[in-house]
Order: sequence, then C-alpha cells, then structure tokens
Amino acid sequence: MKFKIISKGDERSNQIKATMKQHLIDFDLIYDRAEPDLVISVGGDGTFLEAFHRYNHRLQSTAFIGVHTGHLGFYADYVPEELEKLVIEIAKTPFQVVEYPLLEVIIRSKTGNKVDSYLALNEATIKTPDGSVVFDVEIKGERFETFRGDGLCISTPSGSTAYNKALGGGIIHPTLEAIQLTEMASINNRVFRTIGSPLILPKHHTCLLKPLVERSFFITIDHITHNYTNVKSIQCRVAKEKIRFARFRPFPFWNRVRDSFITEN
Ligand code: NAP
Ligand code: MN
Repeated sequence: MKFKIISKGDERSNQIKATMKQHLIDFDLIYDRAEPDLVISVGGDGTFLEAFHRYNHRLQSTAFIGVHTGHLGFYADYVPEELEKLVIEIAKTPFQVVEYPLLEVIIRSKTGNKVDSYLALNEATIKTPDGSVVFDVEIKGERFETFRGDGLCISTPSGSTAYNKALGGGIIHPTLEAIQLTEMASINNRVFRTIGSPLILPKHHTCLLKPLVERSFFITIDHITHNYTNVKSIQCRVAKEKIRFARFRPFPFWNRVRDSFITEN
C-alpha cells in the first residue's frame, strides 16, 4: 500500500509524521506523494481540509484519515496515543471505507465562457467587501427568494458542525446526502424578504445564486478564499464525488459531536 502523510507543520505534528512514516516504511508500505492509497493528516481539521484539497483529483482511489495534535477534530479524530495501534492496523488490516457527501460549486462568469468548478468538504461561503450581497436564489430552476444581506453559507453534512453551526444551522448526519443553506444577517423588512430558516436540500435539488447587483465577491471553499468579479451565477448541489475515510475503529458521528461540543475531555 502507498501512503502519504501531511503535517500541520508544528514541531509535535512533524515529530508524529516522522515516527509514523518510519514505522509504516518498516512494515514495507511505500511512501508515495503522487498516488497514495491512504493520506494521513496530522494536525487539526484545517490540516485535514488541506489534505483533502491536495488530493481531491483522486478521490476514487485515495482514502483519508486524520490524527489530531490539538483538541479533538471532526476529521482528525485519532489521538497520538493510539498511533502504535493505528500503524499496525494500517499495515496489517485492509481498512473499511466510510463515504461522506461533498458540495459541488460551479461559478459562471458574465464575461467569456469562464466556468470554475470546486468541491468543498465543509462549505462554500459567499460574501462581499462592498456592502451587502443581493442575489436571486433559485431552487430546482424556480425562483425562491431574493436575498439581501452579509452573505450565504452552503455546507455539507460533515461541514454542518463548522461555520454552518455558528450561523444557527442544524447538524446533519453525513449518511444524509444533502446540502444546507444558511443566511448571514439577511435584511428583512417590507421590501426585502427571505425565508430566515436554514434550508436543507436533497441530492439533485440544485441551488442557483444569481447576483442582481454587480459586486466583487469573496467566495470561500473550505479554508481557501477566491476573489471574483463579473459573476453570472453560483451553482451549488450535492456532488457526485464523495470523500472516502479509512475506518479502523468505529467513532460514530454523534459521539464526535458530543465529545467536541458537550463533554469536557
Ligand atoms: P480555523 O479558523 O482554524 O477554523 C475554525 C474552527 O473550525 C477550528 O477550530 C477548526 O478546527 C474547526 N473546524 C473545521 N472544520 C470543522 C468541522 N467540520 N466541524 C467542526 N469544526 C470544524 O480555519 P481552518 O482550520 O482553515 O478551517 C476552515 C474552516 O473554518 C471553514 O471551512 C469554516 O467551516 C470554519 N470557519 C468557521 C467560522 C465560524 O465558526 N464563525 C468562521 C470562518 C470559518 P481546527 O482547529 O482543528 O482546525
Ligand atoms: Mn484550523
């Protein structure tokens, strides 16, 4: 089996990376940056997002796993104390795979035929440095509302515990193939009206945002921010692709939610 380890870059994470790498090589596994079967991220959820984006061109053949060197992560859910056991399991047992849904974002430009396509593991957010965003929001080809406010967040189920949660969105179990749309400070009065509640859209229910006022947009895909002008539309839907996690022991989603937000460890 071929593997690659991505470290957050701090001393502790680098140390863990070096130890794991050596042990796995001793077990005859091959360190391969280009075509790994398994990508191990060592750090936090931010490091895991980084690992996902570095290998999102080969989601069908790469599985991911995260070791956390800070507090418990949502993606980084192995502790350094488990490493010895984990290394032996990676080397000796074929891993089970658990798949989580992703968000597909397609940005079309008014000028030319420029089309950019992204996959997000957590969410996409759309904001502007120039006042508020004004969009027509279409769902499944029908106009739903005109949104005016600070911005919108469209998240995946596994991203529902991240930015989405801070915006009052619900936590969605990742077996549900859905995306969630949450508002950032919508303007609501006699003139402008939005639904106000988070919307949960199933597979194939595409959401299309069409800017009504020309703005410069900050469109973030997970931890990466892109700057756009002349945007014709931003299309969001459940992606065909999924992320594959390597599972060596069960750690149910609700236990992770509890241990991150409720229980003090
Ligand atoms: P960051 O500023 O370190 O991320 C903010 C926090 O979100 C960190 O504690 C991070 O964990 C945690 N996190 C990331 N993914 C999560 C998930 N799926 N469930 C629960 N917590 C999660 O920046 P970053 O590490 O580059 O991560 C980017 C993410 O930050 C974005 O995708 C967005 O979801 C989130 N964010 C949140 C807010 C907010 O809550 N108001 C605002 C902006 C961005 P680690 O410390 O382990 O990295
Ligand atoms: Mn972080």
